[in-house]
Amino acid sequence: MIQLWNPFFVMNSQQDSHELLAFLLDMLHEDLNRVKLKPYIEEKTYEQQPNQQQANKAWSDYLKRNRSIIVDLFQGQSINMLQCMVCNTKSYKFETFMYLSLPILEDADLLQCISEYLKEEELDEGNQWYCSKCKSVKKSKKGIKLWKLPNILVIHLKRFKFTANYRCKLRWLINFPMYNLDLSNYSEQEQATYDLYGVINHSGTLHSGHYTSNCKNKDTQKWYNFDDTRIKEITEKQVLTSDAYLLFYYKNNVDSYERQSEVIRSSIINSSASLPKQSSIIHGSIFNIPHTKLSISKLCISETDQQLTTPQIFGKKKSLKTNKLTPLPGKKPIFFASDNQKIQ
Ligand SMILES: [Zn+2]
Repeated sequence: MIQLWNPFFVMNSQQDSHELLAFLLDMLHEDLNRVKLKPYIEEKTYEQQPNQQQANKAWSDYLKRNRSIIVDLFQGQSINMLQCMVCNTKSYKFETFMYLSLPILEDADLLQCISEYLKEEELDEGNQWYCSKCKSVKKSKKGIKLWKLPNILVIHLKRFKFTANYRCKLRWLINFPMYNLDLSNYSEQEQATYDLYGVINHSGTLHSGHYTSNCKNKDTQKWYNFDDTRIKEITEKQVLTSDAYLLFYYKNNVDSYERQSEVIRSSIINSSASLPKQSSIIHGSIFNIPHTKLSISKLCISETDQQLTTPQIFGKKKSLKTNKLTPLPGKKPIFFASDNQKIQ
């Protein structure tokens, strides 16, 4: 099916599951984007590290062009910095991200790989920054900081290494936590911890490999291994292997996600019908999301009541750090970002 849209993904050839996931999420986002007419929005850069207000503005500008369940679930915000190493002029720019694509290090754990990814790095010659103060290309460095953290965090471990001289697969075991992956130290804005619920594994070589996945059932808390048509229960310890290639975490310090989208007041009023329990494509068909009307089978969220605007995703119930969305009677539709900032 996907090959109809992208001939790159033809049957029976070796594929990269990360590229497939990125393509699939992009395609779903574009198809489900509720913004049909995208306004032109000028990109802004800052000379000083921007503040929260500027971050909120950048995010609301992004939402004016991009509004989908993919944004609600997967997208975060980062700030990218460029610095001229001659005059120290800096330029900051907000970006969004859908996954962290991490270089992997030998004898390192996941947090060390994240630190490596985020550390400041000198730009290669030929790839350097044009400094507006020096008015020429100068020796420069770049850095990334996370700002807003996504509800579902996808981490790509870059096991496939390509250089001018060789290509190889890095087989190091990267120790990743099952619970409470803490990204608070990496975010300028929020404290967030994540629990693991899925892994895509790649076994074999660069040229000939095989993908399997491990997924956790949120109700039973049991892990299962999916290998083509074979499914078997596995222990939590068996999830941590050197084959791990893509990791899927959900934010565990909120019991619902705030929808970054328009609340349609009329549908809130008019509909009181309860939809049947639906399964989520994100968690696999055996991972039901109870008590919500998150209708992934239709690949959209039905906006029927207030609970729906903050559907519970799996995980233990904990107190919300964030304010809940409360539609006011008689008010026109409003926009909310996940940081509870009123957008419009
Ligand atoms: Zn300069």
